Amino acid sequence: MYLQIMCSSCGHRSRKFKYDKYLRTEPADEIVKAGWNSFGDAFYCPKCVKTWEQRNGKDRPLWGKVHTRERVYQVMIGDLMDENEYLRKGEWPC
Ligand SMILES: [Zn+2]
Repeated sequence: MYLQIMCSSCGHRSRKFKYDKYLRTEPADEIVKAGWNSFGDAFYCPKCVKTWEQRNGKDRPLWGKVHTRERVYQVMIGDLMDENEYLRKGEWPC
């Protein structure tokens, strides 16, 4: 399985992080360290994070590291659940 997130502003993609349910790596840490941030469900790349305030003003700050980590985990869990469903049923859920 690979995790790759995409910037909701410019479409820039993170590098691909390999993971599976047995061998846990920590893509969430690396993504946060690289400077990615999030607002609600959306991810923003380090470049767009820098210009966020100019584009959105001071009243709408990004949601920060903890939320970004949680969002990365949510994406990973969602993918693992799809994979389980696939292994159970033999077809990808739509
Ligand atoms: Zn971007």
